[in-house]
Amino acid sequence: MTVISKEFFYKQVSDGIDCSILHPWMDECVPANAYLMVQAAIGCTKFFFPLYLAQVILNRHNINWRRLVKSYIRTLIYSVSFVGFFMISNCIQCWYFGRLHYYSLALASGFFAGLPIFIESPVNINLNTLYFFNMFLEAVVMNLESIGKITRTKTKDTLAFMTCSSILMYLFDTQSCKPYNNLWFYQQKNSTERNRDNCAHKDNCHMHILKGIIQYFGVGFGLEVIKFALTKFQALMKDPKLLITMLLNKNNLFFGLVTGGYVGIFRLVNCLLTKMDKRERGYHKALAGFVSGITYCIKPNLQFGITAFATIVQLLIQRAERKIPIPSESVGVLFAVLNALLFHNRFMYADTCPKYITNMTKVCTNGLDTKTVEFLLDHMFAV
Ligand SMILES: [Zn+2]
Ligand SMILES: [Zn+2]
Repeated sequence: MTVISKEFFYKQVSDGIDCSILHPWMDECVPANAYLMVQAAIGCTKFFFPLYLAQVILNRHNINWRRLVKSYIRTLIYSVSFVGFFMISNCIQCWYFGRLHYYSLALASGFFAGLPIFIESPVNINLNTLYFFNMFLEAVVMNLESIGKITRTKTKDTLAFMTCSSILMYLFDTQSCKPYNNLWFYQQKNSTERNRDNCAHKDNCHMHILKGIIQYFGVGFGLEVIKFALTKFQALMKDPKLLITMLLNKNNLFFGLVTGGYVGIFRLVNCLLTKMDKRERGYHKALAGFVSGITYCIKPNLQFGITAFATIVQLLIQRAERKIPIPSESVGVLFAVLNALLFHNRFMYADTCPKYITNMTKVCTNGLDTKTVEFLLDHMFAV
């Protein structure tokens, strides 16, 4: 496992070593940063193009091109600044302190790199923070597992997911206002908005359950295909036949079974309890959420479980916010803090870093990030 501890860092990086080890493509800071910015402009254009293309495909009947292009340009300015702030802040800290320090290399620079998030629109600030919060939780679980503080098994993961699902569906049902945008794939309108005397759906219960299974099988399957297509976008452009492999991939089918089965069982249990009680109640959703969570064991997926947990936190914050207002700028600052922790993880504990971060930094720097990491591992931290 690749771990660079504080002691190991100071043993390998002596006083005389400066920031040029972080930009091995050029020794001088100014031209090295200028070159990095050019590569970042190319890399970020490549990284965000498929994401915006997906938006065009999903909203093809109702696209505001002007707004979309503006948003794309805004995202590119933010992401290139993100890369630039990271390296420039490293160089400045090195000039200021006269040497590289353990916590300034990725932690402090990761924080500064996150600050250009304020260039983004409020919607994108919230979404980015939400993604990074999910990845932060994923990193916490992977780090705890790697140091032996927790052991994960299919049974434990499934039980944890069932509990999260139960709390989550209860919170959705008892939420008095519309939940903020979140990453959870399924939610019903809460009971207070509906007729509580009996099942509120239009179709009969069998049809309602069947429609849920089919529709959400498609959602789970589609999400996995899109995720795969985004990570393999360049290979897909070169070889479109890969699309067939993607569609037939059994992992995508299994995830469709998880989401379709989840909604089917949730609706089945909820309908049964409503019929027994002759009205809908919050605890029905909690019980239905718990039972339906069993589908997690079809294909355990840490990110899926983390999303459930992160959405619970998000809903609780939303409730707390009604009593203690949270300034909107704090979301952007939270993003910078999460970025700092994830970048520290990326450089110092590479094996437990979420794959998305590794992939993002590699593409957004057009491969220069990999050069830095390889140089550090081969020359500074070779064991
Ligand atoms: Zn430098
Ligand atoms: Zn029903």
